[in-house]
Amino acid sequence: MSWSQTLQTGDLHDQMTILIGSAVRLLCGEAGVFVVSNEAFDPQSSSEYTLYRLSTSQLPLLLASVQEGVQPNSRHLLVTETLPEALIEQFGPGCDDYSERLHDAERCSLFVHDHAGVLGVLHYIRPRGARSCFEQSEAAQETQGRMQLFVTHLAAGLRSALKSQALVKEQGRLAAIFEHSMEGILTVDNALRIIDFNPAMQRLTGWSESEVLGRFYYEVLRPRDRQGNEVGLQGSPILQAFAGQSVVNREMIISARDGQRFDVYVTASCVRSARGEPMNGILNVRDITREREEEEQRSRFISVISHELQTPIAIIKGYASTLARSDALLDAEALRSRLIAVEDEADRLNKLVGNLLYASRIQAGGLQMEIVPLELPRLIEGVVRRLQAKSPDVSVTLDLPPNLPTVMADRDRVEEVLQNLLDNAVKYSPRQRSLTLACSVTGDEVIVSVSDVGMGISLRDQEHIFNRFHRASNGMIQSMPGAGLGLYICRAIVEAHGGHIWVESTLHEGSTFSFSLPRVEKAHLPMVVF
Ligand code: ADP
Repeated sequence: MSWSQTLQTGDLHDQMTILIGSAVRLLCGEAGVFVVSNEAFDPQSSSEYTLYRLSTSQLPLLLASVQEGVQPNSRHLLVTETLPEALIEQFGPGCDDYSERLHDAERCSLFVHDHAGVLGVLHYIRPRGARSCFEQSEAAQETQGRMQLFVTHLAAGLRSALKSQALVKEQGRLAAIFEHSMEGILTVDNALRIIDFNPAMQRLTGWSESEVLGRFYYEVLRPRDRQGNEVGLQGSPILQAFAGQSVVNREMIISARDGQRFDVYVTASCVRSARGEPMNGILNVRDITREREEEEQRSRFISVISHELQTPIAIIKGYASTLARSDALLDAEALRSRLIAVEDEADRLNKLVGNLLYASRIQAGGLQMEIVPLELPRLIEGVVRRLQAKSPDVSVTLDLPPNLPTVMADRDRVEEVLQNLLDNAVKYSPRQRSLTLACSVTGDEVIVSVSDVGMGISLRDQEHIFNRFHRASNGMIQSMPGAGLGLYICRAIVEAHGGHIWVESTLHEGSTFSFSLPRVEKAHLPMVVF
Protein backbone atom coordinates (compact mmCIF):
# COMPACT_ATOMS: atom_id res chain seq x y z
CA MET A 1 0.00 0.00 0.00
CA SER A 2 1.42 3.40 -0.92
CA TRP A 3 1.64 6.21 1.64
CA SER A 4 -1.12 8.03 -0.14
CA GLN A 5 -3.51 5.23 0.80
CA THR A 6 -2.79 4.93 4.54
CA LEU A 7 -5.18 3.29 6.98
CA GLN A 8 -7.69 5.53 8.64
CA THR A 9 -7.47 5.76 12.47
CA GLY A 10 -11.28 5.64 12.52
CA ASP A 11 -11.19 1.99 11.34
CA LEU A 12 -9.19 1.05 14.41
CA HIS A 13 -11.35 3.00 16.84
CA ASP A 14 -14.23 0.94 15.44
CA GLN A 15 -12.23 -2.21 16.23
CA MET A 16 -11.85 -1.09 19.85
CA THR A 17 -15.58 -0.31 20.06
CA ILE A 18 -16.48 -3.74 18.63
CA LEU A 19 -14.16 -5.44 21.11
CA ILE A 20 -15.51 -3.52 24.11
CA GLY A 21 -19.12 -3.91 22.87
CA SER A 22 -18.79 -7.70 22.55
CA ALA A 23 -17.18 -7.95 25.98
CA VAL A 24 -19.99 -5.93 27.58
CA ARG A 25 -22.63 -8.07 25.83
CA LEU A 26 -20.92 -11.31 26.85
CA LEU A 27 -20.95 -10.06 30.43
CA CYS A 28 -24.74 -9.37 30.13
CA GLY A 29 -24.13 -5.60 30.24
CA GLU A 30 -26.19 -3.03 28.37
CA ALA A 31 -23.64 -0.22 28.20
CA GLY A 32 -20.11 0.38 29.34
CA VAL A 33 -16.76 2.03 29.07
CA PHE A 34 -13.22 0.72 28.98
CA VAL A 35 -10.81 3.04 30.77
CA VAL A 36 -7.21 2.51 29.71
CA SER A 37 -4.84 2.36 32.69
CA ASN A 38 -2.04 4.92 33.04
CA GLU A 39 0.40 2.11 32.44
CA ALA A 40 -1.04 1.13 29.08
CA PHE A 41 -2.07 4.62 27.99
CA ASP A 42 -0.01 6.24 25.26
CA PRO A 43 -1.22 9.80 24.55
CA GLN A 44 0.36 9.56 21.09
CA SER A 45 -1.58 6.54 20.08
CA SER A 46 -4.69 5.73 22.10
CA SER A 47 -7.69 7.47 23.61
CA GLU A 48 -8.30 7.21 27.34
CA TYR A 49 -11.79 5.75 26.97
CA THR A 50 -13.71 3.54 24.62
CA LEU A 51 -17.45 3.95 25.09
CA TYR A 52 -20.11 1.41 24.29
CA ARG A 53 -23.68 2.74 24.19
CA LEU A 54 -22.77 5.47 26.67
CA SER A 55 -22.69 9.16 25.92
CA THR A 56 -19.84 11.43 26.96
CA SER A 57 -22.28 13.32 29.22
CA GLN A 58 -23.11 10.11 31.13
CA LEU A 59 -19.48 9.16 31.54
CA PRO A 60 -18.37 11.58 34.33
CA LEU A 61 -21.25 10.47 36.62
CA LEU A 62 -20.42 6.83 36.07
CA LEU A 63 -16.71 7.37 36.75
CA ALA A 64 -17.47 9.43 39.87
CA SER A 65 -19.56 6.57 41.24
CA VAL A 66 -16.75 4.14 40.40
CA GLN A 67 -14.25 6.22 42.36
CA GLU A 68 -16.44 6.18 45.44
CA GLY A 69 -16.82 2.41 45.33
CA VAL A 70 -14.56 -0.61 45.75
CA GLN A 71 -11.90 -1.04 43.02
CA PRO A 72 -11.33 -4.41 41.33
CA ASN A 73 -7.82 -5.87 41.26
CA SER A 74 -6.00 -8.98 40.04
CA ARG A 75 -7.37 -11.01 42.94
CA HIS A 76 -10.92 -9.69 42.78
CA LEU A 77 -11.36 -9.30 39.09
CA LEU A 78 -15.00 -8.31 39.17
CA VAL A 79 -16.63 -5.83 41.54
CA THR A 80 -20.41 -5.39 41.39
CA GLU A 81 -22.22 -2.47 43.07
CA THR A 82 -25.71 -1.04 43.02
CA LEU A 83 -26.05 1.81 40.57
CA PRO A 84 -26.75 5.07 42.49
CA GLU A 85 -30.16 6.74 42.02
CA ALA A 86 -28.68 9.74 40.24
CA LEU A 87 -27.17 7.47 37.64
CA ILE A 88 -30.34 5.45 37.21
CA GLU A 89 -32.06 8.74 36.35
CA GLN A 90 -29.39 9.41 33.79
CA PHE A 91 -30.21 6.12 32.14
CA GLY A 92 -33.91 6.59 32.96
CA PRO A 93 -36.83 5.61 30.72
CA GLY A 94 -36.72 7.18 27.31
CA CYS A 95 -32.98 7.89 27.47
CA ASP A 96 -31.90 4.91 25.44
CA ASP A 97 -33.46 1.83 23.96
CA TYR A 98 -32.07 -0.23 26.88
CA SER A 99 -33.13 2.18 29.66
CA GLU A 100 -36.30 0.23 30.45
CA ARG A 101 -34.16 -2.73 31.47
CA LEU A 102 -32.05 -0.60 33.79
CA HIS A 103 -34.59 0.78 36.24
CA ASP A 104 -33.05 -1.69 38.66
CA ALA A 105 -29.44 -1.94 37.63
CA GLU A 106 -25.97 -2.58 38.93
CA ARG A 107 -22.54 -1.36 37.94
CA CYS A 108 -19.77 -3.87 37.38
CA SER A 109 -16.04 -3.16 37.10
CA LEU A 110 -13.77 -5.80 35.57
CA PHE A 111 -10.01 -5.60 36.07
CA VAL A 112 -8.31 -6.30 32.72
CA HIS A 113 -4.67 -7.35 32.87
CA ASP A 114 -2.25 -9.81 31.39
CA HIS A 115 1.30 -11.01 32.04
CA ALA A 116 2.68 -7.68 30.82
CA GLY A 117 0.66 -5.59 33.25
CA VAL A 118 -2.61 -3.74 33.71
CA LEU A 119 -4.56 -2.70 30.64
CA GLY A 120 -7.45 -0.96 32.32
CA VAL A 121 -10.88 -1.48 33.81
CA LEU A 122 -14.07 -2.30 31.98
CA HIS A 123 -17.06 -0.66 33.70
CA TYR A 124 -20.48 -1.77 32.54
CA ILE A 125 -24.08 -1.52 33.61
CA ARG A 126 -26.39 -4.48 33.69
CA PRO A 127 -29.83 -5.34 35.10
CA ARG A 128 -29.51 -6.33 38.75
CA GLY A 129 -29.01 -10.05 39.21
CA ALA A 130 -28.03 -10.74 35.58
CA ARG A 131 -25.19 -13.26 35.41
CA SER A 132 -22.90 -13.95 32.49
CA CYS A 133 -21.98 -17.48 31.47
CA PHE A 134 -18.66 -17.03 33.31
CA GLU A 135 -20.41 -16.40 36.62
CA GLN A 136 -22.97 -19.18 36.67
CA SER A 137 -21.06 -21.64 38.80
CA GLU A 138 -21.82 -21.92 42.48
CA ALA A 139 -18.14 -22.36 43.25
CA ALA A 140 -16.47 -18.97 43.61
CA GLN A 141 -13.12 -20.43 42.51
CA GLU A 142 -14.57 -21.72 39.29
CA THR A 143 -16.17 -18.34 38.57
CA GLN A 144 -12.82 -16.64 39.23
CA GLY A 145 -11.10 -19.15 36.91
CA ARG A 146 -13.58 -18.60 34.08
CA MET A 147 -13.44 -14.86 34.51
CA GLN A 148 -9.64 -14.98 34.42
CA LEU A 149 -9.80 -16.92 31.16
CA PHE A 150 -12.17 -14.36 29.68
CA VAL A 151 -9.96 -11.49 30.89
CA THR A 152 -6.90 -13.13 29.32
CA HIS A 153 -8.67 -13.27 25.96
CA LEU A 154 -10.00 -9.75 26.28
CA ALA A 155 -6.57 -8.43 27.27
CA ALA A 156 -4.95 -10.09 24.24
CA GLY A 157 -7.51 -8.47 21.93
CA LEU A 158 -7.14 -5.07 23.59
CA ARG A 159 -3.33 -5.19 23.48
CA SER A 160 -3.36 -5.86 19.78
CA ALA A 161 -5.99 -3.15 19.13
CA LEU A 162 -3.94 -0.62 21.14
CA LYS A 163 -0.80 -1.62 19.27
CA SER A 164 -2.60 -1.23 15.95
CA GLN A 165 -3.77 2.23 17.03
CA ALA A 166 -0.19 3.16 17.86
CA LEU A 167 0.98 1.83 14.50
CA VAL A 168 -1.69 3.71 12.60
CA LYS A 169 -0.85 6.96 14.37
CA GLU A 170 2.82 6.35 13.61
CA GLN A 171 1.92 5.66 10.01
CA GLY A 172 -0.09 8.89 9.96
CA ARG A 173 2.91 10.85 11.20
CA LEU A 174 5.21 9.26 8.63
CA ALA A 175 2.65 9.84 5.90
CA ALA A 176 2.49 13.55 6.84
CA ILE A 177 6.29 13.80 6.65
CA PHE A 178 6.24 11.97 3.32
CA GLU A 179 3.47 14.15 1.90
CA HIS A 180 4.78 17.53 3.07
CA SER A 181 8.52 16.99 2.88
CA MET A 182 10.32 19.58 0.77
CA GLU A 183 12.69 16.82 -0.27
CA GLY A 184 11.74 14.21 -2.81
CA ILE A 185 11.27 10.73 -1.34
CA LEU A 186 10.78 7.54 -3.27
CA THR A 187 10.73 4.00 -2.01
CA VAL A 188 11.26 0.83 -3.99
CA ASP A 189 10.71 -2.87 -3.37
CA ASN A 190 13.60 -5.33 -3.45
CA ALA A 191 13.37 -5.50 -7.26
CA LEU A 192 13.93 -1.70 -7.37
CA ARG A 193 10.35 -1.01 -8.52
CA ILE A 194 8.83 2.22 -7.23
CA ILE A 195 6.19 1.79 -4.53
CA ASP A 196 6.00 5.38 -3.18
CA PHE A 197 6.67 8.69 -4.89
CA ASN A 198 5.96 11.75 -2.76
CA PRO A 199 4.55 15.12 -3.96
CA ALA A 200 7.99 16.80 -3.79
CA MET A 201 9.29 14.07 -6.10
CA GLN A 202 6.35 14.65 -8.42
CA ARG A 203 7.06 18.41 -8.51
CA LEU A 204 10.74 17.82 -9.17
CA THR A 205 10.38 15.28 -11.95
CA GLY A 206 7.01 16.11 -13.48
CA TRP A 207 5.89 12.45 -13.14
CA SER A 208 2.74 11.72 -11.15
CA GLU A 209 2.77 8.90 -8.63
CA SER A 210 0.33 6.77 -10.60
CA GLU A 211 2.58 7.00 -13.68
CA VAL A 212 5.66 5.67 -11.91
CA LEU A 213 4.31 3.09 -9.45
CA GLY A 214 5.73 -0.32 -10.32
CA ARG A 215 8.37 1.09 -12.67
CA PHE A 216 12.09 0.48 -12.28
CA TYR A 217 13.38 3.59 -10.50
CA TYR A 218 16.44 3.96 -12.74
CA GLU A 219 14.24 4.13 -15.80
CA VAL A 220 12.26 7.01 -14.24
CA LEU A 221 15.17 9.07 -12.88
CA ARG A 222 17.74 8.25 -15.59
CA PRO A 223 20.64 9.11 -13.22
CA ARG A 224 23.96 10.47 -14.43
CA ASP A 225 27.13 11.41 -12.63
CA ARG A 226 28.26 15.04 -12.36
CA GLN A 227 30.14 14.74 -15.64
CA GLY A 228 26.91 13.74 -17.37
CA ASN A 229 27.79 10.04 -17.88
CA GLU A 230 25.04 7.50 -17.32
CA VAL A 231 25.35 5.75 -13.97
CA GLY A 232 25.22 1.98 -14.46
CA LEU A 233 23.15 -0.21 -12.18
CA GLN A 234 26.27 -1.16 -10.20
CA GLY A 235 26.43 2.50 -9.16
CA SER A 236 22.82 2.51 -7.92
CA PRO A 237 22.80 4.05 -4.44
CA ILE A 238 19.86 1.85 -3.40
CA LEU A 239 21.64 -1.32 -4.53
CA GLN A 240 24.67 -0.23 -2.53
CA ALA A 241 22.43 0.28 0.50
CA PHE A 242 20.99 -3.21 -0.13
CA ALA A 243 24.54 -4.55 -0.27
CA GLY A 244 25.22 -3.42 3.25
CA GLN A 245 26.13 0.25 3.45
CA SER A 246 23.74 1.69 6.02
CA VAL A 247 23.33 5.09 4.34
CA VAL A 248 24.66 6.04 0.91
CA ASN A 249 25.06 9.72 0.01
CA ARG A 250 25.80 10.81 -3.52
CA GLU A 251 25.53 13.79 -5.86
CA MET A 252 24.05 12.99 -9.22
CA ILE A 253 22.06 14.42 -12.09
CA ILE A 254 18.55 13.16 -12.73
CA SER A 255 16.20 13.84 -15.62
CA ALA A 256 12.67 15.16 -15.33
CA ARG A 257 9.85 13.87 -17.47
CA ASP A 258 10.46 16.62 -20.05
CA GLY A 259 14.16 15.74 -20.24
CA GLN A 260 15.32 18.69 -18.13
CA ARG A 261 18.23 17.73 -15.89
CA PHE A 262 18.72 18.58 -12.21
CA ASP A 263 21.64 18.39 -9.85
CA VAL A 264 20.49 16.43 -6.84
CA TYR A 265 21.94 15.10 -3.63
CA VAL A 266 20.58 11.65 -2.87
CA THR A 267 20.61 9.62 0.31
CA ALA A 268 19.76 5.94 -0.01
CA SER A 269 18.89 3.65 2.85
CA CYS A 270 17.43 0.21 3.23
CA VAL A 271 14.70 -1.45 5.29
CA ARG A 272 15.47 -5.07 6.15
CA SER A 273 13.32 -7.99 7.19
CA ALA A 274 13.76 -9.66 10.57
CA ARG A 275 16.13 -12.09 8.82
CA GLY A 276 18.20 -9.19 7.50
CA GLU A 277 17.10 -9.42 3.87
CA PRO A 278 16.58 -6.11 2.05
CA MET A 279 12.85 -5.42 1.67
CA ASN A 280 12.63 -1.76 0.66
CA GLY A 281 15.00 0.92 -0.50
CA ILE A 282 14.38 4.58 0.35
CA LEU A 283 15.82 7.39 -1.71
CA ASN A 284 15.78 10.98 -0.43
CA VAL A 285 16.35 13.43 -3.23
CA ARG A 286 17.34 17.07 -2.60
CA ASP A 287 17.42 19.48 -5.52
CA ILE A 288 20.79 21.29 -5.35
CA THR A 289 20.60 22.95 -8.77
CA ARG A 290 20.42 26.41 -7.16
CA GLU A 291 23.42 25.68 -4.90
CA ARG A 292 25.39 24.42 -7.90
CA GLU A 293 24.47 27.52 -9.89
CA GLU A 294 25.61 29.75 -7.04
CA GLU A 295 28.85 27.83 -6.78
CA GLU A 296 29.34 28.15 -10.52
CA GLN A 297 28.55 31.86 -10.28
CA ARG A 298 31.19 32.30 -7.58
CA SER A 299 33.86 30.56 -9.60
CA ARG A 300 32.78 32.45 -12.73
CA PHE A 301 33.02 35.67 -10.71
CA ILE A 302 36.58 34.90 -9.66
CA SER A 303 37.73 33.98 -13.15
CA VAL A 304 35.97 36.91 -14.86
CA ILE A 305 37.11 39.46 -12.32
CA SER A 306 40.69 38.27 -12.24
CA HIS A 307 40.80 38.28 -16.03
CA GLU A 308 39.09 41.66 -16.28
CA LEU A 309 41.46 43.20 -13.74
CA GLN A 310 44.60 41.61 -15.05
CA THR A 311 44.16 42.65 -18.67
CA PRO A 312 43.97 46.44 -18.21
CA ILE A 313 46.60 46.37 -15.48
CA ALA A 314 48.98 44.48 -17.78
CA ILE A 315 48.33 46.97 -20.61
CA ILE A 316 48.79 50.00 -18.35
CA LYS A 317 51.96 48.54 -16.92
CA GLY A 318 53.31 47.69 -20.38
CA TYR A 319 52.75 51.20 -21.73
CA ALA A 320 53.98 52.85 -18.54
CA SER A 321 57.24 50.92 -18.62
CA THR A 322 57.76 51.76 -22.31
CA LEU A 323 57.16 55.43 -21.60
CA ALA A 324 59.44 55.33 -18.59
CA ARG A 325 62.40 53.88 -20.46
CA SER A 326 65.16 56.40 -20.83
CA ASP A 327 65.97 55.17 -24.32
CA ALA A 328 62.36 55.46 -25.55
CA LEU A 329 62.30 58.00 -28.32
CA LEU A 330 58.68 58.60 -29.13
CA ASP A 331 57.28 61.35 -31.27
CA ALA A 332 54.33 63.34 -29.99
CA GLU A 333 51.77 61.26 -31.89
CA ALA A 334 53.13 57.92 -30.61
CA LEU A 335 53.26 59.31 -27.11
CA ARG A 336 49.66 60.51 -27.36
CA SER A 337 48.35 57.20 -28.65
CA ARG A 338 50.00 55.34 -25.77
CA LEU A 339 48.63 57.74 -23.21
CA ILE A 340 45.15 57.40 -24.74
CA ALA A 341 45.48 53.61 -24.45
CA VAL A 342 46.44 53.97 -20.78
CA GLU A 343 43.46 56.26 -20.24
CA ASP A 344 41.10 53.79 -21.99
CA GLU A 345 42.30 50.94 -19.83
CA ALA A 346 41.94 53.06 -16.69
CA ASP A 347 38.36 53.84 -17.81
CA ARG A 348 37.74 50.14 -18.28
CA LEU A 349 38.96 49.44 -14.77
CA ASN A 350 36.88 52.27 -13.44
CA LYS A 351 33.77 50.94 -15.18
CA LEU A 352 34.36 47.46 -13.85
CA VAL A 353 34.76 48.65 -10.28
CA GLY A 354 31.69 50.89 -10.71
CA ASN A 355 29.62 47.92 -12.00
CA LEU A 356 30.79 45.70 -9.17
CA LEU A 357 29.75 48.31 -6.63
CA TYR A 358 26.46 48.78 -8.46
CA ALA A 359 25.78 45.03 -8.46
CA SER A 360 26.59 44.68 -4.78
CA ARG A 361 24.31 47.61 -3.97
CA ILE A 362 21.51 45.96 -5.96
CA GLN A 363 22.06 42.77 -4.00
CA ALA A 364 22.08 44.58 -0.69
CA GLY A 365 18.88 46.37 -1.73
CA GLY A 366 20.33 49.82 -1.20
CA LEU A 367 19.78 51.52 -4.54
CA GLN A 368 17.57 54.59 -4.57
CA MET A 369 15.81 56.05 -7.57
CA GLU A 370 14.24 59.35 -8.34
CA ILE A 371 11.26 58.66 -10.48
CA VAL A 372 9.79 61.56 -12.45
CA PRO A 373 7.74 62.02 -15.66
CA LEU A 374 10.26 61.53 -18.45
CA GLU A 375 10.20 62.31 -22.20
CA LEU A 376 12.02 59.44 -23.86
CA PRO A 377 12.81 60.96 -27.32
CA ARG A 378 15.13 63.64 -25.90
CA LEU A 379 16.88 61.15 -23.67
CA ILE A 380 17.31 58.67 -26.54
CA GLU A 381 18.65 61.31 -28.93
CA GLY A 382 21.18 62.43 -26.29
CA VAL A 383 22.47 58.88 -25.73
CA VAL A 384 22.71 58.21 -29.48
CA ARG A 385 24.59 61.47 -30.04
CA ARG A 386 27.17 60.51 -27.41
CA LEU A 387 27.54 57.03 -28.93
CA GLN A 388 28.18 58.42 -32.41
CA ALA A 389 30.73 60.89 -31.09
CA LYS A 390 32.58 57.95 -29.45
CA SER A 391 32.14 55.48 -32.35
CA PRO A 392 31.66 57.43 -35.60
CA ASP A 393 31.69 54.23 -37.71
CA VAL A 394 28.45 52.97 -36.07
CA SER A 395 25.24 53.87 -37.86
CA VAL A 396 22.11 54.16 -35.74
CA THR A 397 18.59 54.18 -37.22
CA LEU A 398 15.99 55.78 -34.96
CA ASP A 399 12.42 54.58 -35.23
CA LEU A 400 10.40 56.67 -32.78
CA PRO A 401 6.65 57.10 -33.29
CA PRO A 402 5.32 60.65 -33.03
CA ASN A 403 3.75 61.70 -29.71
CA LEU A 404 5.52 59.02 -27.68
CA PRO A 405 3.77 58.98 -24.28
CA THR A 406 5.62 60.27 -21.24
CA VAL A 407 6.91 57.52 -18.93
CA MET A 408 7.63 57.49 -15.20
CA ALA A 409 11.29 56.76 -14.72
CA ASP A 410 14.62 57.75 -13.23
CA ARG A 411 16.48 59.65 -15.98
CA ASP A 412 20.03 58.60 -15.05
CA ARG A 413 19.12 54.95 -14.59
CA VAL A 414 17.25 54.71 -17.90
CA GLU A 415 20.23 56.34 -19.61
CA GLU A 416 22.47 53.68 -18.07
CA VAL A 417 20.23 50.90 -19.40
CA LEU A 418 20.18 52.35 -22.88
CA GLN A 419 23.90 53.04 -22.84
CA ASN A 420 24.61 49.46 -21.77
CA LEU A 421 22.39 47.95 -24.50
CA LEU A 422 23.92 50.18 -27.18
CA ASP A 423 27.50 49.46 -25.98
CA ASN A 424 26.76 45.72 -26.11
CA ALA A 425 25.16 46.01 -29.56
CA VAL A 426 28.34 47.68 -30.83
CA LYS A 427 30.72 45.37 -28.92
CA TYR A 428 29.04 42.16 -30.09
CA SER A 429 28.64 43.24 -33.74
CA PRO A 430 32.23 43.09 -34.93
CA ARG A 431 31.42 43.21 -38.65
CA GLN A 432 28.23 45.11 -39.39
CA ARG A 433 27.97 48.11 -37.12
CA SER A 434 24.46 49.29 -37.83
CA LEU A 435 21.92 49.44 -35.03
CA THR A 436 18.25 50.29 -34.81
CA LEU A 437 16.70 51.96 -31.80
CA ALA A 438 12.92 51.77 -31.86
CA CYS A 439 10.04 52.60 -29.54
CA SER A 440 6.50 51.25 -29.52
CA VAL A 441 3.50 51.85 -27.31
CA THR A 442 1.10 49.44 -25.60
CA GLY A 443 -1.88 50.22 -23.39
CA ASP A 444 0.20 50.55 -20.23
CA GLU A 445 3.78 50.81 -21.34
CA VAL A 446 6.33 52.19 -23.74
CA ILE A 447 8.74 49.60 -25.13
CA VAL A 448 12.27 50.57 -26.14
CA SER A 449 14.23 48.13 -28.37
CA VAL A 450 17.85 48.04 -29.46
CA SER A 451 18.54 45.76 -32.45
CA ASP A 452 21.84 44.74 -33.98
CA VAL A 453 22.93 42.42 -36.76
CA GLY A 454 25.81 41.00 -34.77
CA MET A 455 26.81 37.66 -33.32
CA GLY A 456 23.46 36.72 -31.85
CA ILE A 457 22.97 34.60 -28.75
CA SER A 458 22.23 30.88 -28.50
CA LEU A 459 18.91 29.85 -26.94
CA ARG A 460 20.75 28.28 -24.02
CA ASP A 461 22.66 31.48 -23.25
CA GLN A 462 19.54 33.62 -23.68
CA GLU A 463 18.16 31.98 -20.52
CA HIS A 464 21.12 33.13 -18.43
CA ILE A 465 22.56 36.37 -19.76
CA PHE A 466 20.60 38.51 -17.30
CA ASN A 467 22.24 36.64 -14.41
CA ARG A 468 25.30 38.05 -12.70
CA PHE A 469 28.64 37.22 -14.33
CA HIS A 470 27.09 35.19 -17.10
CA ARG A 471 28.78 35.55 -20.46
CA ALA A 472 28.04 33.45 -23.54
CA SER A 473 30.15 30.31 -23.60
CA ASN A 474 31.34 31.10 -27.12
CA GLY A 475 35.14 31.48 -27.22
CA MET A 476 35.06 34.69 -29.26
CA ILE A 477 32.89 36.41 -26.65
CA GLN A 478 35.06 35.14 -23.83
CA SER A 479 38.03 36.88 -25.46
CA MET A 480 36.21 40.24 -25.51
CA PRO A 481 36.33 42.48 -22.46
CA GLY A 482 33.34 42.22 -20.13
CA ALA A 483 32.37 40.92 -16.71
CA GLY A 484 28.76 39.84 -17.31
CA LEU A 485 27.34 42.54 -15.09
CA GLY A 486 25.77 45.01 -17.56
CA LEU A 487 22.57 43.08 -18.31
CA TYR A 488 22.15 42.08 -14.66
CA ILE A 489 22.21 45.78 -13.73
CA CYS A 490 19.85 46.65 -16.63
CA ARG A 491 17.34 44.05 -15.47
CA ALA A 492 17.45 45.27 -11.86
CA ILE A 493 16.87 48.87 -12.96
CA VAL A 494 14.02 48.03 -15.36
CA GLU A 495 12.27 45.75 -12.89
CA ALA A 496 12.56 48.41 -10.19
CA HIS A 497 10.51 50.63 -12.53
CA GLY A 498 7.87 47.91 -12.73
CA GLY A 499 8.94 47.03 -16.28
CA HIS A 500 10.48 43.98 -17.99
CA ILE A 501 13.56 43.34 -20.09
CA TRP A 502 13.98 40.55 -22.60
CA VAL A 503 15.92 39.43 -25.64
CA GLU A 504 15.04 37.92 -29.00
CA SER A 505 18.03 36.65 -30.86
CA THR A 506 19.24 34.31 -33.57
CA LEU A 507 22.78 33.05 -33.42
CA HIS A 508 25.01 34.64 -36.12
CA GLU A 509 22.16 36.91 -37.26
CA GLY A 510 21.65 39.43 -34.50
CA SER A 511 19.75 40.36 -31.38
CA THR A 512 17.01 42.67 -30.21
CA PHE A 513 16.99 43.69 -26.55
CA SER A 514 13.76 45.33 -25.38
CA PHE A 515 12.61 46.85 -22.13
CA SER A 516 9.35 48.35 -21.03
CA LEU A 517 8.60 51.36 -18.82
CA PRO A 518 5.21 52.34 -17.41
CA ARG A 519 3.33 55.21 -19.07
CA VAL A 520 2.89 58.17 -16.77
CA GLU A 521 -0.87 57.71 -16.34
CA LYS A 522 -0.47 53.99 -15.58
CA ALA A 523 2.44 54.16 -13.15
CA HIS A 524 1.98 53.15 -9.52
CA LEU A 525 5.50 53.55 -8.39
CA PRO A 526 7.14 54.29 -5.09
CA MET A 527 9.65 57.14 -5.24
CA VAL A 528 12.35 55.01 -3.68
CA VAL A 529 12.69 51.51 -5.02
CA PHE A 530 14.82 48.42 -4.09
P1 ADP B 1 29.42 41.80 -20.64
O1 ADP B 1 29.08 42.44 -21.93
O2 ADP B 1 30.28 42.63 -19.77
O3 ADP B 1 29.93 40.42 -20.81
P2 ADP B 1 26.57 41.89 -20.13
O4 ADP B 1 25.85 41.56 -18.88
O5 ADP B 1 26.32 43.21 -20.70
O6 ADP B 1 28.09 41.65 -19.79
O7 ADP B 1 26.21 40.79 -21.21
C1 ADP B 1 26.20 39.43 -20.82
C2 ADP B 1 26.47 38.54 -22.03
O8 ADP B 1 25.36 38.62 -22.92
C3 ADP B 1 27.63 38.94 -22.86
O9 ADP B 1 28.84 38.41 -22.34
C4 ADP B 1 27.29 38.35 -24.21
O10 ADP B 1 27.62 36.98 -24.20
C5 ADP B 1 25.79 38.47 -24.26
N1 ADP B 1 25.33 39.69 -25.01
C6 ADP B 1 24.88 40.83 -24.49
N2 ADP B 1 24.48 41.68 -25.47
C7 ADP B 1 24.69 41.03 -26.64
C8 ADP B 1 24.47 41.36 -28.01
N3 ADP B 1 23.95 42.53 -28.38
N4 ADP B 1 24.80 40.44 -28.94
C9 ADP B 1 25.29 39.23 -28.58
N5 ADP B 1 25.53 38.87 -27.31
C10 ADP B 1 25.22 39.74 -26.34
